Amino acid sequence: MPSPKYHADCKICIGMMMDTTCKQRPADDRTDSHATRVRIGIILPQDRVTRACLTIPDVPYTADGDPVRAVTLTARIEGTSIVLDAPRQSAKHGHSVGQLLTLSPATPAPTATLTLHNCIAGRGFHWSKHIDVALPGRVELSVKDGHLLVVNDLDIESYLEGVITAEMSGDAPTEFLKAQCIVARSWMRAATERKHSELGIDFCNDDCCQRYQGIGAVTESAAGAVDQTAGRVLIHTTGGIVDANYAKSCGGITEAPEHVWGAPKPGQHSTVDAPRDSAIARFGAITETNIAEYTTGPWLGECDAYCSPGAVPDRDLPRYLGRVDDGGGHFRWHIRYSGGELTDLLRRTLRGDAELQIRHIQDLVVTHRGRSGRAIRLVVAYDDNRGRRQATSIEGQYRIRDALHESFLFSSAFDVRIERDAAGRPKTIDLFGAGWGHGAGMCQIGALGMALAGHDHRRILHHYFKDVTIASDPSLRDA
Ligand SMILES: [Zn+2]
Ligand SMILES: [Zn+2]
Repeated sequence: MPSPKYHADCKICIGMMMDTTCKQRPADDRTDSHATRVRIGIILPQDRVTRACLTIPDVPYTADGDPVRAVTLTARIEGTSIVLDAPRQSAKHGHSVGQLLTLSPATPAPTATLTLHNCIAGRGFHWSKHIDVALPGRVELSVKDGHLLVVNDLDIESYLEGVITAEMSGDAPTEFLKAQCIVARSWMRAATERKHSELGIDFCNDDCCQRYQGIGAVTESAAGAVDQTAGRVLIHTTGGIVDANYAKSCGGITEAPEHVWGAPKPGQHSTVDAPRDSAIARFGAITETNIAEYTTGPWLGECDAYCSPGAVPDRDLPRYLGRVDDGGGHFRWHIRYSGGELTDLLRRTLRGDAELQIRHIQDLVVTHRGRSGRAIRLVVAYDDNRGRRQATSIEGQYRIRDALHESFLFSSAFDVRIERDAAGRPKTIDLFGAGWGHGAGMCQIGALGMALAGHDHRRILHHYFKDVTIASDPSLRDA
Protein backbone atom coordinates (compact mmCIF):
# COMPACT_ATOMS: atom_id res chain seq x y z
CA MET A 1 0.00 0.00 0.00
CA PRO A 2 1.37 3.43 -0.84
CA SER A 3 1.75 5.68 2.18
CA PRO A 4 -0.68 8.61 2.42
CA LYS A 5 0.77 11.73 0.85
CA TYR A 6 -0.29 14.88 -0.90
CA HIS A 7 0.32 15.53 -4.55
CA ALA A 8 1.61 19.01 -5.17
CA ASP A 9 -0.47 19.77 -8.27
CA CYS A 10 -3.33 17.38 -7.64
CA LYS A 11 -6.78 18.89 -8.07
CA ILE A 12 -8.06 16.40 -5.54
CA CYS A 13 -5.51 17.05 -2.83
CA ILE A 14 -5.56 20.83 -3.08
CA GLY A 15 -7.76 22.26 -0.37
CA MET A 16 -8.10 19.04 1.62
CA MET A 17 -5.40 19.67 4.16
CA MET A 18 -7.45 18.10 6.96
CA ASP A 19 -7.68 14.79 5.14
CA THR A 20 -4.63 12.59 5.77
CA THR A 21 -6.15 9.56 4.11
CA CYS A 22 -5.85 10.34 0.42
CA LYS A 23 -6.05 6.96 -1.28
CA GLN A 24 -4.45 8.01 -4.52
CA ARG A 25 -1.32 6.29 -5.57
CA PRO A 26 1.87 8.33 -5.17
CA ALA A 27 3.15 10.22 -8.16
CA ASP A 28 5.89 7.70 -8.80
CA ASP A 29 3.41 4.85 -9.11
CA ARG A 30 3.27 3.43 -12.65
CA THR A 31 -0.47 3.97 -13.04
CA ASP A 32 -2.41 7.15 -13.61
CA SER A 33 -2.48 8.65 -10.13
CA HIS A 34 -6.16 9.53 -10.52
CA ALA A 35 -7.30 6.21 -11.88
CA THR A 36 -9.02 4.97 -8.74
CA ARG A 37 -10.95 8.09 -7.79
CA VAL A 38 -13.54 10.23 -9.49
CA ARG A 39 -14.98 13.71 -8.92
CA ILE A 40 -18.71 14.04 -9.39
CA GLY A 41 -20.59 17.35 -9.47
CA ILE A 42 -23.68 17.00 -7.25
CA ILE A 43 -24.89 20.61 -7.27
CA LEU A 44 -23.73 22.61 -10.30
CA PRO A 45 -23.62 26.39 -10.74
CA GLN A 46 -26.37 26.02 -13.38
CA ASP A 47 -28.70 24.82 -10.58
CA ARG A 48 -28.40 28.40 -9.23
CA VAL A 49 -28.28 27.18 -5.65
CA THR A 50 -26.87 29.54 -3.01
CA ARG A 51 -27.67 27.50 0.10
CA ALA A 52 -27.16 23.81 0.87
CA CYS A 53 -28.21 21.82 3.89
CA LEU A 54 -26.04 18.91 5.06
CA THR A 55 -26.38 16.42 7.88
CA ILE A 56 -23.12 15.07 9.28
CA PRO A 57 -23.48 11.57 10.76
CA ASP A 58 -22.53 10.52 14.25
CA VAL A 59 -18.98 9.63 13.26
CA PRO A 60 -15.99 11.98 13.34
CA TYR A 61 -15.88 14.32 10.34
CA THR A 62 -13.91 17.44 9.70
CA ALA A 63 -15.35 20.66 8.30
CA ASP A 64 -12.89 23.33 7.29
CA GLY A 65 -10.32 21.44 9.38
CA ASP A 66 -12.34 21.41 12.60
CA PRO A 67 -13.93 18.30 14.11
CA VAL A 68 -17.66 18.02 13.59
CA ARG A 69 -20.18 15.19 14.03
CA ALA A 70 -23.91 14.51 14.37
CA VAL A 71 -25.05 17.95 13.24
CA THR A 72 -27.05 19.59 10.48
CA LEU A 73 -25.29 22.50 8.81
CA THR A 74 -26.42 25.04 6.29
CA ALA A 75 -23.78 26.38 3.93
CA ARG A 76 -24.79 29.63 2.26
CA ILE A 77 -23.07 32.13 0.04
CA GLU A 78 -22.49 35.58 1.46
CA GLY A 79 -20.69 37.86 -0.95
CA THR A 80 -18.03 35.62 -2.45
CA SER A 81 -17.63 33.38 0.61
CA ILE A 82 -19.37 30.38 2.12
CA VAL A 83 -20.83 30.96 5.57
CA LEU A 84 -21.86 28.08 7.80
CA ASP A 85 -24.99 28.15 9.88
CA ALA A 86 -24.91 25.54 12.60
CA PRO A 87 -26.60 25.04 15.98
CA ARG A 88 -25.94 28.11 18.12
CA GLN A 89 -23.72 26.30 20.60
CA SER A 90 -21.42 25.21 17.76
CA ALA A 91 -18.20 27.06 17.17
CA LYS A 92 -19.10 26.88 13.48
CA HIS A 93 -22.18 29.06 13.73
CA GLY A 94 -21.92 32.09 11.48
CA HIS A 95 -18.38 31.11 10.55
CA SER A 96 -17.06 32.16 7.15
CA VAL A 97 -14.91 29.50 5.51
CA GLY A 98 -13.88 31.41 2.39
CA GLN A 99 -14.50 30.01 -1.08
CA LEU A 100 -13.96 26.33 -0.32
CA LEU A 101 -15.39 24.09 2.36
CA THR A 102 -14.25 20.47 2.54
CA LEU A 103 -16.08 17.88 4.59
CA SER A 104 -14.59 14.45 5.02
CA PRO A 105 -14.43 11.57 7.48
CA ALA A 106 -11.70 12.33 10.04
CA THR A 107 -10.39 8.77 9.80
CA PRO A 108 -10.78 6.20 7.00
CA ALA A 109 -14.45 5.27 7.05
CA PRO A 110 -15.54 3.78 3.71
CA THR A 111 -19.15 3.36 4.77
CA ALA A 112 -19.57 6.81 6.38
CA THR A 113 -21.87 9.10 4.43
CA LEU A 114 -23.11 12.60 4.98
CA THR A 115 -26.53 13.60 3.70
CA LEU A 116 -26.90 16.47 1.27
CA HIS A 117 -30.52 17.57 1.29
CA ASN A 118 -32.68 18.73 -1.61
CA CYS A 119 -30.40 18.17 -4.60
CA ILE A 120 -31.91 18.29 -8.02
CA ALA A 121 -32.17 15.00 -9.93
CA GLY A 122 -33.12 15.00 -13.60
CA ARG A 123 -32.04 18.51 -14.63
CA GLY A 124 -34.36 19.59 -17.45
CA PHE A 125 -36.18 16.26 -17.74
CA HIS A 126 -39.86 15.47 -17.31
CA TRP A 127 -39.17 13.67 -14.04
CA SER A 128 -36.99 16.34 -12.44
CA LYS A 129 -37.30 16.39 -8.65
CA HIS A 130 -35.41 17.18 -5.44
CA ILE A 131 -33.92 14.37 -3.38
CA ASP A 132 -31.62 13.79 -0.41
CA VAL A 133 -28.39 11.96 -1.23
CA ALA A 134 -25.98 10.04 1.01
CA LEU A 135 -22.42 10.85 -0.08
CA PRO A 136 -19.32 8.85 0.93
CA GLY A 137 -15.76 10.13 0.75
CA ARG A 138 -15.00 13.80 0.55
CA VAL A 139 -17.54 16.52 -0.19
CA GLU A 140 -16.35 19.93 -1.35
CA LEU A 141 -18.44 23.07 -1.53
CA SER A 142 -17.13 26.05 -3.46
CA VAL A 143 -18.41 29.27 -5.01
CA LYS A 144 -18.62 29.49 -8.80
CA ASP A 145 -20.18 32.47 -10.52
CA GLY A 146 -22.08 33.38 -7.36
CA HIS A 147 -23.57 29.88 -6.97
CA LEU A 148 -22.63 26.73 -5.14
CA LEU A 149 -20.66 23.91 -6.71
CA VAL A 150 -20.83 20.75 -4.60
CA VAL A 151 -18.42 17.96 -5.55
CA ASN A 152 -18.25 14.42 -4.23
CA ASP A 153 -14.76 12.93 -4.47
CA LEU A 154 -14.88 9.15 -4.04
CA ASP A 155 -13.38 5.91 -5.25
CA ILE A 156 -14.59 4.66 -8.61
CA GLU A 157 -16.08 1.37 -7.50
CA SER A 158 -18.21 3.14 -4.85
CA TYR A 159 -19.27 5.57 -7.56
CA LEU A 160 -20.34 2.65 -9.76
CA GLU A 161 -22.38 1.16 -6.91
CA GLY A 162 -24.17 4.49 -6.76
CA VAL A 163 -24.61 4.66 -10.54
CA ILE A 164 -26.18 1.24 -10.98
CA THR A 165 -28.60 1.81 -8.09
CA ALA A 166 -29.62 5.23 -9.41
CA GLU A 167 -29.99 4.23 -13.03
CA MET A 168 -32.13 1.29 -11.93
CA SER A 169 -33.04 -0.26 -8.59
CA GLY A 170 -30.60 -2.24 -6.46
CA ASP A 171 -33.36 -4.85 -6.32
CA ALA A 172 -33.00 -5.59 -10.05
CA PRO A 173 -31.63 -9.06 -10.90
CA THR A 174 -27.90 -9.45 -10.25
CA GLU A 175 -27.09 -10.31 -13.89
CA PHE A 176 -28.74 -7.07 -14.98
CA LEU A 177 -26.75 -5.14 -12.36
CA LYS A 178 -23.51 -6.71 -13.58
CA ALA A 179 -24.28 -5.75 -17.19
CA GLN A 180 -25.21 -2.23 -16.13
CA CYS A 181 -22.03 -1.93 -14.10
CA ILE A 182 -19.76 -3.03 -16.97
CA VAL A 183 -21.46 -0.63 -19.38
CA ALA A 184 -21.25 2.25 -16.91
CA ARG A 185 -17.59 1.49 -16.18
CA SER A 186 -16.81 1.28 -19.91
CA TRP A 187 -18.43 4.64 -20.63
CA MET A 188 -16.55 6.21 -17.77
CA ARG A 189 -13.19 4.65 -18.67
CA ALA A 190 -13.56 5.45 -22.38
CA ALA A 191 -14.13 9.02 -21.20
CA THR A 192 -14.81 10.49 -24.59
CA GLU A 193 -17.35 12.86 -23.09
CA ARG A 194 -15.96 15.44 -20.67
CA LYS A 195 -18.77 17.91 -20.52
CA HIS A 196 -17.82 19.75 -17.33
CA SER A 197 -14.03 20.05 -17.34
CA GLU A 198 -14.26 23.80 -16.66
CA LEU A 199 -15.70 22.94 -13.23
CA GLY A 200 -12.81 20.66 -12.27
CA ILE A 201 -15.04 17.60 -12.15
CA ASP A 202 -15.02 14.37 -14.12
CA PHE A 203 -18.79 13.96 -14.49
CA CYS A 204 -22.03 15.40 -13.21
CA ASN A 205 -24.53 13.35 -11.22
CA ASP A 206 -27.30 13.27 -13.79
CA ASP A 207 -28.47 11.72 -17.04
CA CYS A 208 -26.30 14.28 -18.84
CA CYS A 209 -23.38 12.02 -17.83
CA GLN A 210 -24.40 9.06 -15.67
CA ARG A 211 -26.96 9.14 -12.91
CA TYR A 212 -25.35 9.12 -9.43
CA GLN A 213 -27.43 9.82 -6.35
CA GLY A 214 -25.02 8.81 -3.60
CA ILE A 215 -24.85 5.31 -2.15
CA GLY A 216 -27.95 5.31 0.04
CA ALA A 217 -29.79 2.87 -2.25
CA VAL A 218 -26.92 0.37 -2.64
CA THR A 219 -28.03 -3.18 -1.91
CA GLU A 220 -25.96 -6.22 -1.12
CA SER A 221 -26.52 -7.60 -4.61
CA ALA A 222 -25.56 -4.28 -6.23
CA ALA A 223 -22.33 -4.15 -4.21
CA GLY A 224 -21.74 -7.78 -5.18
CA ALA A 225 -22.34 -7.01 -8.88
CA VAL A 226 -19.71 -4.26 -8.78
CA ASP A 227 -17.29 -6.44 -6.85
CA GLN A 228 -17.72 -9.46 -9.13
CA THR A 229 -17.11 -7.37 -12.26
CA ALA A 230 -14.33 -5.27 -10.68
CA GLY A 231 -12.29 -3.49 -13.33
CA ARG A 232 -14.09 -5.23 -16.21
CA VAL A 233 -15.05 -3.28 -19.31
CA LEU A 234 -16.15 -3.85 -22.89
CA ILE A 235 -13.19 -3.98 -25.26
CA HIS A 236 -13.72 -3.61 -29.00
CA THR A 237 -11.86 -5.93 -31.36
CA THR A 238 -9.77 -2.92 -32.42
CA GLY A 239 -8.46 -2.81 -28.86
CA GLY A 240 -10.11 0.25 -27.36
CA ILE A 241 -12.58 0.46 -24.50
CA VAL A 242 -16.09 0.78 -25.91
CA ASP A 243 -17.67 4.18 -25.39
CA ALA A 244 -20.74 2.29 -24.24
CA ASN A 245 -24.05 4.10 -24.03
CA TYR A 246 -27.37 3.03 -22.62
CA ALA A 247 -30.93 4.32 -22.42
CA LYS A 248 -34.09 3.28 -20.63
CA SER A 249 -36.20 1.68 -23.40
CA CYS A 250 -35.39 1.35 -27.08
CA GLY A 251 -39.02 0.58 -27.93
CA GLY A 252 -38.17 -2.68 -29.75
CA ILE A 253 -35.18 -1.76 -31.93
CA THR A 254 -32.07 -0.06 -30.58
CA GLU A 255 -30.76 3.04 -32.33
CA ALA A 256 -27.53 3.28 -34.30
CA PRO A 257 -25.11 5.73 -32.66
CA GLU A 258 -24.72 7.77 -35.85
CA HIS A 259 -28.38 8.77 -35.53
CA VAL A 260 -27.79 10.08 -32.02
CA TRP A 261 -24.27 11.52 -32.08
CA GLY A 262 -23.75 11.92 -35.82
CA ALA A 263 -21.01 9.28 -36.13
CA PRO A 264 -20.67 5.52 -35.62
CA LYS A 265 -19.08 4.21 -32.44
CA PRO A 266 -17.01 1.01 -32.41
CA GLY A 267 -18.91 -1.76 -30.64
CA GLN A 268 -22.36 -0.18 -30.91
CA HIS A 269 -24.99 -1.04 -33.47
CA SER A 270 -28.74 -1.10 -34.04
CA THR A 271 -30.34 -4.40 -33.12
CA VAL A 272 -33.78 -5.92 -32.73
CA ASP A 273 -34.31 -6.09 -28.98
CA ALA A 274 -36.03 -9.47 -28.93
CA PRO A 275 -35.33 -13.17 -29.39
CA ARG A 276 -33.93 -14.14 -32.80
CA ASP A 277 -37.23 -15.36 -34.31
CA SER A 278 -39.27 -12.40 -33.06
CA ALA A 279 -41.98 -10.79 -35.20
CA ILE A 280 -40.22 -7.45 -34.74
CA ALA A 281 -37.43 -8.57 -37.05
CA ARG A 282 -39.81 -8.14 -40.01
CA PHE A 283 -39.76 -4.37 -39.50
CA GLY A 284 -36.04 -4.02 -40.22
CA ALA A 285 -35.51 -0.29 -39.98
CA ILE A 286 -38.48 1.88 -39.01
CA THR A 287 -39.57 4.33 -41.72
CA GLU A 288 -42.58 6.51 -42.57
CA THR A 289 -44.05 3.45 -44.25
CA ASN A 290 -44.11 1.17 -41.22
CA ILE A 291 -44.06 3.44 -38.18
CA ALA A 292 -47.84 3.40 -37.76
CA GLU A 293 -47.79 -0.39 -37.61
CA TYR A 294 -44.70 -0.34 -35.37
CA THR A 295 -46.18 2.05 -32.82
CA THR A 296 -49.80 0.90 -32.68
CA GLY A 297 -50.24 -2.28 -34.76
CA PRO A 298 -52.19 -5.27 -33.43
CA TRP A 299 -48.94 -7.32 -33.35
CA LEU A 300 -48.13 -5.50 -30.10
CA GLY A 301 -50.62 -7.75 -28.32
CA GLU A 302 -48.09 -10.58 -28.65
CA CYS A 303 -44.93 -8.52 -28.63
CA ASP A 304 -41.90 -10.37 -27.23
CA ALA A 305 -39.40 -7.47 -27.19
CA TYR A 306 -37.21 -7.70 -24.11
CA CYS A 307 -38.23 -4.16 -23.11
CA SER A 308 -41.95 -4.72 -23.76
CA PRO A 309 -44.57 -5.35 -21.08
CA GLY A 310 -44.55 -8.96 -22.37
CA ALA A 311 -41.07 -9.37 -20.82
CA VAL A 312 -41.26 -6.80 -18.01
CA PRO A 313 -44.89 -6.18 -17.01
CA ASP A 314 -45.66 -2.53 -16.26
CA ARG A 315 -46.92 -3.51 -12.80
CA ASP A 316 -43.47 -4.95 -11.94
CA LEU A 317 -41.41 -2.15 -13.46
CA PRO A 318 -41.55 0.35 -10.56
CA ARG A 319 -39.61 -1.94 -8.26
CA TYR A 320 -36.82 -2.24 -10.82
CA LEU A 321 -36.56 1.42 -11.85
CA GLY A 322 -34.51 4.14 -10.19
CA ARG A 323 -36.14 5.93 -7.27
CA VAL A 324 -36.79 9.09 -9.29
CA ASP A 325 -38.36 7.34 -12.27
CA ASP A 326 -42.07 7.10 -12.92
CA GLY A 327 -42.90 3.49 -13.61
CA GLY A 328 -44.33 1.96 -16.75
CA GLY A 329 -45.99 3.10 -19.95
CA HIS A 330 -42.87 3.95 -21.94
CA PHE A 331 -42.68 1.04 -24.36
CA ARG A 332 -45.62 2.60 -26.18
CA TRP A 333 -47.06 5.98 -25.27
CA HIS A 334 -49.48 8.54 -26.63
CA ILE A 335 -49.69 12.31 -26.31
CA ARG A 336 -52.47 14.46 -27.79
CA TYR A 337 -52.26 18.20 -28.38
CA SER A 338 -54.94 20.49 -29.71
CA GLY A 339 -53.76 22.74 -32.55
CA GLY A 340 -53.78 25.68 -30.13
CA GLU A 341 -51.81 23.80 -27.46
CA LEU A 342 -49.10 22.76 -29.88
CA THR A 343 -48.90 26.26 -31.34
CA ASP A 344 -48.45 27.71 -27.83
CA LEU A 345 -45.90 25.04 -26.95
CA LEU A 346 -43.77 25.58 -30.04
CA ARG A 347 -43.90 29.35 -29.63
CA ARG A 348 -42.24 28.80 -26.24
CA THR A 349 -39.86 25.97 -27.04
CA LEU A 350 -38.69 27.35 -30.40
CA ARG A 351 -38.36 30.86 -29.05
CA GLY A 352 -35.06 32.31 -30.13
CA ASP A 353 -34.93 30.10 -33.21
CA ALA A 354 -34.93 32.49 -36.18
CA GLU A 355 -37.41 34.82 -34.45
CA LEU A 356 -40.30 32.56 -35.24
CA GLN A 357 -43.65 34.24 -35.27
CA ILE A 358 -46.01 31.32 -35.21
CA ARG A 359 -49.68 32.13 -35.56
CA HIS A 360 -50.91 28.62 -36.36
CA ILE A 361 -49.17 25.31 -36.67
CA GLN A 362 -50.05 23.68 -39.99
CA ASP A 363 -48.04 20.46 -40.08
CA LEU A 364 -45.37 18.33 -38.46
CA VAL A 365 -43.40 16.21 -40.90
CA VAL A 366 -40.58 13.86 -39.95
CA THR A 367 -38.13 13.91 -42.85
CA HIS A 368 -35.33 11.75 -41.37
CA ARG A 369 -35.48 8.87 -38.92
CA GLY A 370 -32.93 6.55 -37.37
CA ARG A 371 -33.31 2.77 -37.56
CA SER A 372 -35.35 2.67 -34.34
CA GLY A 373 -37.83 5.16 -35.82
CA ARG A 374 -36.42 8.06 -33.81
CA ALA A 375 -36.97 11.32 -35.66
CA ILE A 376 -33.71 13.12 -36.30
CA ARG A 377 -35.16 15.88 -38.49
CA LEU A 378 -38.61 17.34 -38.08
CA VAL A 379 -40.11 20.07 -40.25
CA VAL A 380 -42.68 22.34 -38.62
CA ALA A 381 -44.94 24.12 -41.10
CA TYR A 382 -46.82 27.15 -39.78
CA ASP A 383 -48.56 30.37 -40.74
CA ASP A 384 -46.72 33.39 -39.42
CA ASN A 385 -48.23 36.55 -37.97
CA ARG A 386 -48.72 37.99 -41.47
CA GLY A 387 -50.50 34.87 -42.66
CA ARG A 388 -47.57 33.62 -44.75
CA ARG A 389 -46.83 29.89 -44.88
CA GLN A 390 -43.42 29.20 -43.35
CA ALA A 391 -41.42 26.17 -42.32
CA THR A 392 -38.59 25.54 -39.93
CA SER A 393 -36.69 22.36 -39.26
CA ILE A 394 -35.63 20.93 -35.92
CA GLU A 395 -32.50 18.83 -36.13
CA GLY A 396 -31.52 15.99 -33.82
CA GLN A 397 -33.32 13.84 -31.29
CA TYR A 398 -32.54 16.06 -28.36
CA ARG A 399 -33.92 19.26 -29.86
CA ILE A 400 -36.99 17.48 -31.18
CA ARG A 401 -37.75 16.01 -27.75
CA ASP A 402 -37.11 19.37 -26.14
CA ALA A 403 -39.42 21.20 -28.57
CA LEU A 404 -42.37 18.83 -28.45
CA HIS A 405 -42.91 18.60 -24.72
CA GLU A 406 -42.88 21.10 -21.87
CA SER A 407 -40.55 18.86 -19.90
CA PHE A 408 -38.89 16.73 -22.57
CA LEU A 409 -40.60 14.10 -24.70
CA PHE A 410 -39.91 10.46 -23.79
CA SER A 411 -38.32 9.77 -27.17
CA SER A 412 -38.36 11.02 -30.75
CA ALA A 413 -39.65 7.66 -32.08
CA PHE A 414 -43.21 8.73 -32.79
CA ASP A 415 -45.83 8.64 -35.49
CA VAL A 416 -47.62 11.96 -36.13
CA ARG A 417 -51.34 11.79 -36.85
CA ILE A 418 -53.25 15.01 -37.46
CA GLU A 419 -56.99 15.54 -37.57
CA ARG A 420 -57.98 18.75 -39.34
CA ASP A 421 -60.97 21.09 -39.12
CA ALA A 422 -63.07 22.21 -42.10
CA ALA A 423 -60.56 25.00 -42.82
CA GLY A 424 -57.74 22.46 -42.98
CA ARG A 425 -56.12 23.56 -39.75
CA PRO A 426 -54.91 20.92 -37.28
CA LYS A 427 -57.63 20.25 -34.72
CA THR A 428 -55.72 17.53 -32.86
CA ILE A 429 -52.15 16.32 -33.20
CA ASP A 430 -51.47 12.85 -31.83
CA LEU A 431 -47.99 11.52 -31.20
CA PHE A 432 -47.92 7.73 -30.90
CA GLY A 433 -44.50 6.95 -29.52
CA ALA A 434 -42.13 4.12 -28.69
CA GLY A 435 -39.45 3.94 -26.04
CA TRP A 436 -37.76 6.23 -23.57
CA GLY A 437 -34.42 7.89 -24.19
CA HIS A 438 -32.07 8.03 -27.17
CA GLY A 439 -32.27 4.27 -27.68
CA ALA A 440 -28.58 3.62 -28.45
CA GLY A 441 -26.35 1.04 -26.78
CA MET A 442 -27.84 -1.09 -24.01
CA CYS A 443 -31.59 -0.90 -23.57
CA GLN A 444 -31.85 -0.90 -19.77
CA ILE A 445 -35.38 -2.25 -19.51
CA GLY A 446 -34.55 -4.75 -22.26
CA ALA A 447 -31.46 -5.88 -20.34
CA LEU A 448 -33.69 -6.24 -17.30
CA GLY A 449 -36.12 -8.33 -19.35
CA MET A 450 -33.26 -10.54 -20.52
CA ALA A 451 -32.04 -11.04 -16.96
CA LEU A 452 -35.57 -11.90 -15.80
CA ALA A 453 -35.70 -14.47 -18.62
CA GLY A 454 -32.55 -16.10 -17.26
CA HIS A 455 -29.81 -14.66 -19.48
CA ASP A 456 -26.50 -13.85 -17.80
CA HIS A 457 -24.68 -10.55 -18.11
CA ARG A 458 -22.37 -11.82 -20.85
CA ARG A 459 -25.28 -12.81 -23.06
CA ILE A 460 -26.95 -9.46 -22.35
CA LEU A 461 -23.86 -7.45 -23.26
CA HIS A 462 -23.15 -9.41 -26.44
CA HIS A 463 -26.77 -8.84 -27.48
CA TYR A 464 -26.47 -5.06 -27.29
CA PHE A 465 -22.84 -4.63 -28.37
CA LYS A 466 -21.03 -6.22 -31.30
CA ASP A 467 -17.41 -7.25 -31.85
CA VAL A 468 -16.61 -6.86 -28.17
CA THR A 469 -15.05 -8.88 -25.39
CA ILE A 470 -15.50 -8.41 -21.67
CA ALA A 471 -12.10 -7.99 -20.08
CA SER A 472 -10.12 -6.10 -17.47
CA ASP A 473 -9.52 -2.43 -18.14
CA PRO A 474 -6.10 -2.42 -19.86
CA SER A 475 -4.94 0.60 -17.86
CA LEU A 476 -5.54 -1.33 -14.63
CA ARG A 477 -4.21 -4.61 -16.01
CA ASP A 478 -0.93 -2.91 -16.97
CA ALA A 479 -0.50 -1.45 -13.50
ZN1 LIG B 1 -23.01 15.83 -17.10
ZN1 LIG C 1 -35.37 -2.34 -25.83
